[in-house]
Amino acid sequence: HAVCPKCQTVNAVLPERIRQHPVCAKCATLLLPDHPVDLTDQTFERFTTRSALPVLVDFWAPWCGPCKMMTPAFALAASALQGQVVLAKMDTEAQRAIPSRFSIQSVPSLVLFRQGKEIARTAGAMPAAQIQAWVRQQL
Ligand code: ZN
Repeated sequence: HAVCPKCQTVNAVLPERIRQHPVCAKCATLLLPDHPVDLTDQTFERFTTRSALPVLVDFWAPWCGPCKMMTPAFALAASALQGQVVLAKMDTEAQRAIPSRFSIQSVPSLVLFRQGKEIARTAGAMPAAQIQAWVRQQL
């Protein structure tokens, strides 16, 4: 299953179609985007628990310099990991409930979820290659 980044509809995607850029049955948005998806307190739960692929969430804040520095690296990693891991971002200034539930102490923090459960986390800005290497180590 893949959760639509735009309308949150859960779509069933056949494994052999993952590489063929499947789109949402309801709104035609690309289901496994090559760019980070923005999550909110409202969309986080459904998105992380119903996605068959692991979801890597970058918890960031608008005032955080290292977060801004990592933005292009995270986007590059999203493109490199397309179809294997879904990359998402959560603004810890705008969203409070989920960062608090996962006790996010510093930004940027990267937390990897599988079926909604945290399987790994790391903190601090990293270049794209290091993000990819770290994620692959956890899978
Ligand atoms: Zn949709």
